[in-house]
Amino acid sequence: MARILITSAIPYINGIKHLGNLVGSQLPADLFARYMRARGHEVMFICATDEHGTPAELAAAKAGKPVEEYCAEMHKVQADLAKGFRLSFDHFGRSSSQRNHRLTQHFAGKLAENGLIAEVSEKQVFSIDDNRFLPDRYITGTCPNCGNTSARGDQCEECTKQLDPTDLINPRSSISGSTNLEVRETKHLYLRQRALKDKLEAWIDSKTDWPILTTSIAKKWLNDGDGLQDRGITRDLYWGIPVKKGSEDWPGMEGKVFYVWFDAPIEYIAGTAEWADANGLDDAAWERWWRTDKGASDVTYYQFMGKDNVPFHTLSFPATILGSGEPWKLVDYLKSFNYLNYDGGQFSTSQGRGVFMDQALSILPADYWRWWLLSHAPENSDSEFTWENFQASVNKDLADVLGNFVSRVTKFAKSKLGETVPAGGDFTPAETALIADLGARIRDYESLMAQMEVRKAAAELRAIWVIGNEYLQSAAPWSAVKTDPARAEAIVRLSLNLIRVYAILSQPFIPDAAAAMMQAMGSDDWTWPEDVPAALRALPAGHAFTIPENLFRKITDEERADWQQKFSGVRT
Ligand SMILES: [Zn+2]
Repeated sequence: MARILITSAIPYINGIKHLGNLVGSQLPADLFARYMRARGHEVMFICATDEHGTPAELAAAKAGKPVEEYCAEMHKVQADLAKGFRLSFDHFGRSSSQRNHRLTQHFAGKLAENGLIAEVSEKQVFSIDDNRFLPDRYITGTCPNCGNTSARGDQCEECTKQLDPTDLINPRSSISGSTNLEVRETKHLYLRQRALKDKLEAWIDSKTDWPILTTSIAKKWLNDGDGLQDRGITRDLYWGIPVKKGSEDWPGMEGKVFYVWFDAPIEYIAGTAEWADANGLDDAAWERWWRTDKGASDVTYYQFMGKDNVPFHTLSFPATILGSGEPWKLVDYLKSFNYLNYDGGQFSTSQGRGVFMDQALSILPADYWRWWLLSHAPENSDSEFTWENFQASVNKDLADVLGNFVSRVTKFAKSKLGETVPAGGDFTPAETALIADLGARIRDYESLMAQMEVRKAAAELRAIWVIGNEYLQSAAPWSAVKTDPARAEAIVRLSLNLIRVYAILSQPFIPDAAAAMMQAMGSDDWTWPEDVPAALRALPAGHAFTIPENLFRKITDEERADWQQKFSGVRT
């Protein structure tokens, strides 16, 4: 048994995520976690909401709520949606937790001790009436380029021109509208990433099993142009983790918080500590996943994320870990994804274009989405969601192949042979051939799942469903029952056992349908079919089964057209 630590990139708190976000990190991470558990490994699967920073403050202000209250509510919304999609996190934490406060302050303190923090003075806009510094996004004014009167201090959304707050005509505070602004000096902390460049490069060079895409992105950031840059880790904001050096105050940094990019990945560790707290366990329980001096040396750590997050997880977060000089676990394997596009364009959160997690669950069960998203995961290139493809995939793969097999076997068995696994007949060369084919395919499936080849694993699973259908079609128990009932009984006995094996194999992809299949087979034995012939005898003659309720329904053309229309425009 291996010990497997899995983290999914943590979703930002402001709003509900779309299906492109889901398939880029949380969903494939869940697939892998479920598979590794099914194989008997000890798994720790952590995700959380990323709660700090300006966008959260602005979203809370827009909702007319204190930011703490807004984040608590949105965390609950995201946690419920994660449950709805059956994401099997061991813990879904919050980057605003006290655990993350203490760990982030701890890391900053260690980095300072090791000479890796620089204090830098900068000029920033201060709002006298609001009594605070304003980040670029908090300053509104007229765009010098197009005349838009509500351009933001970092960018004009009308003409997309990148701006500095000082470019704006008639600048004002986005909080109060006050124009009583001035430029003041403020001090910030920088992580001296350049001083860690050699260490980072040596570490990345040691990762010979990483995909070229991952290492090339990291190398580009390390070496292109002026190379890896030092990076600010503090902000003049209210909402965040107060800047401290470990548990000590940091002179000159009063009233400042850590920059969200610095504290967010530390939440992977803090989330595991939150898991221990939630389960009444002590520090040793989570440290054995993260500290190589406290039991984590046999842990293999996998991260899942979209490609835009790769530089950050190969450089900035490792810089924090390596710079601490402490024996924290570094990532062993990083699985990254390209983008999922939506019906001829892009998913857009700001325009509400595409299907969002809450909308998806309101029209169809989680398994339908899980299957389509995972079987079309954007691994080697971007992929595209279209309603035609979604309809075809659900109707063919789930309804016609898997659902049809289960339905035909159980209905035929019950109507002709009774409500228990029939006893008659022996396996013939047809069954021997099926078992051999199945065995080879299951070994392929295992290997693809272990390598996180998500699309290929889905294709192999589908092929495993297909061979059951083909066997049933050619063995034709509905013909055999008329002339040789014992032969029909042998076919049905094997087929009922196959339903149970399908439940086990399919569970990482479609957990609800898998549970329904297992329940219909009157079993709770999820033992992985390492020994395929034995697995196909697990349900003995006389064992009771039932016909599952319609496992999958088909999507009609009318529904498809209706949804295509409904999700094309602005989210209301
Ligand atoms: Zn403009």
